[in-house]
Amino acid sequence: GKKIVIVGGVAGGASVAARARRLDETAEITMYERGPYVSFSNCSLPYYLSRTVADATDLVMMSPGQFKAQYNVDAVVNHEVTAIDPVNRTVHVKNRVTGKTQTTAYDDLFLAPGATPLRPQNLRGSDQGHVFTLRTVPDVTHFDDYLTTQKVRDVAIVGAGAIGLEVTENLTRAGYHVTLVDQKNQALAGMLDSDLAQLVHKQLLDHHVDLQLGQAVSQITTTTVDLADGTQIPAQAVLLALGVQPNTTLAAKAGAKLGTTGAIQVNQHYQTSLPHVYAIGDAVELTSALTHQPTQLTLALPAQMAARRAVDHVYGRPVRTRGVLGSQLVPVFELEAAATGLTEAAAKAAHLAVRSALVIPSDKVDLLPNAHHLYLKVLFAPMTGTVLGAQGIGKTIDRQIDVIATVMAQHGTVEDLADLELAYQPTVSPAKNAVVVAGLVATNLLNDEYHQVDVRQVPELVAHDALIIDVREPGEFANGHVKGARNIPMSQFRQRLAEIPHNQPVYLHCATGKRSYNVTRALQNLGYTNVFNIAGSFNAICETT
Ligand code: FAD
Repeated sequence: GKKIVIVGGVAGGASVAARARRLDETAEITMYERGPYVSFSNCSLPYYLSRTVADATDLVMMSPGQFKAQYNVDAVVNHEVTAIDPVNRTVHVKNRVTGKTQTTAYDDLFLAPGATPLRPQNLRGSDQGHVFTLRTVPDVTHFDDYLTTQKVRDVAIVGAGAIGLEVTENLTRAGYHVTLVDQKNQALAGMLDSDLAQLVHKQLLDHHVDLQLGQAVSQITTTTVDLADGTQIPAQAVLLALGVQPNTTLAAKAGAKLGTTGAIQVNQHYQTSLPHVYAIGDAVELTSALTHQPTQLTLALPAQMAARRAVDHVYGRPVRTRGVLGSQLVPVFELEAAATGLTEAAAKAAHLAVRSALVIPSDKVDLLPNAHHLYLKVLFAPMTGTVLGAQGIGKTIDRQIDVIATVMAQHGTVEDLADLELAYQPTVSPAKNAVVVAGLVATNLLNDEYHQVDVRQVPELVAHDALIIDVREPGEFANGHVKGARNIPMSQFRQRLAEIPHNQPVYLHCATGKRSYNVTRALQNLGYTNVFNIAGSFNAICETT
């Protein structure tokens, strides 16, 4: 049978092994993993810190023994592939326990070496024993052992991306005092625009996380993390969650080309520039389905899909690589944040113009006691209405983001979102799901049916004494309102038109943008030409600015 050798035995590598066995009962499949475990759930590692996953051994889904028994795959742990000889089609392998080396021949080689957490050389103090990173089962057990044996109280997490946030939540739940630091002004900058990120910040603050944003770390001492402005954060342990660097050395040493992002370059069949050498997972460069530019996407599902496609190609099955969207979800205590496609910043970096619709509908029929608002923002192309991204926050938001990702995979437009026929039942969704509402609003904007202003412009409007009309009822207005806003409730505006001038811009808002949208329409129908609805309205003003 065919000799298949795999480098790396986790998300990508283990998927290659399983797929290859499903296609070929006679193949000799050997999977080398330099660490002590294959097939563990990286994504579940943070949940051991709160003992949501009770035992570290539960993180490992399959042992080498199980691989052999169930799949007839040789999963060889503690073995590092140190060199590839693409001419003779062999790999050099080093046993990390005994130091012994060997050479193994392959017909096809699959590289799934993953990525390494960043530990910036120029970050003073980052090489100390109490500064950790998180990627593997030993990483999480060492970190956890240190926290317990050293009786750590205060932990600083540097980097407010997905992993930083998941660790923050789990350590907080485990009773530690956590400070989350990021150089950027917002959390989850790769997923969320600055407006929706504010909801994440509020959720963290509500759970007593000390949030330090917009501050670079100047150094890490044995007891503190020091910020550029001189603030010293107490921390007896530090986790760096600053992103990852693709593991490219092995491939590059053998002569494989790297792409413009620095990750391993592969073609549409996941072939590297070396014959019979495929590469997948966090180590490779992918193509964005939206910008058509090279990109990196360090997520588990794309690694598994690539594994399947690469093996299919070896076995002569037709393979068509679609670009990637980058759908992901991050729980933040009582909320979920999720996104797919481009953010405003990513669109800007790719020189793509975008417009957006922000809606704040309920997640269930309003009258139900456990109905909550969810925030959903859809980004779309100005002329064509093609959906380019979506991001949302709510008690649950996976359905909205998954549905929109599905439409985006079909290159759909905001009209397609508006036309979706989604299941409705009061306890799970309003009749018009948030996705449909966002599609309708975006379609209206696309067709210039009315005008809106972004909620982030409100402070400037206030500063310039713009005419802001709050159409909520007087009781709501009395409970808090935008400085200088005039209250003309929706229930009274038809009798009070004399108070609304024709000769200056009028900015309308209510609580979520729904009532003010109706008033915007009415005023337009009455001949007003300079009326703007404030997207997201008072809720967004309070929660996102
Ligand atoms: P890995 O799974 O890292 O596997 C690579 C393996 O190759 C490593 O075990 C490494 O030891 C081994 N290796 C490297 N070089 C060699 C060599 N020369 N010889 C032998 N072995 C070698 N993704 C999501 O989509 N959703 C999530 O919720 C999510 N949460 C995450 C949470 C955490 C804490 C972490 C760390 C990651 C998370 N990810 C998540 C990302 C996801 O785990 C990765 O995208 C995925 O594991 C990538 O698969 P891979 O096979 O490329 O790399």
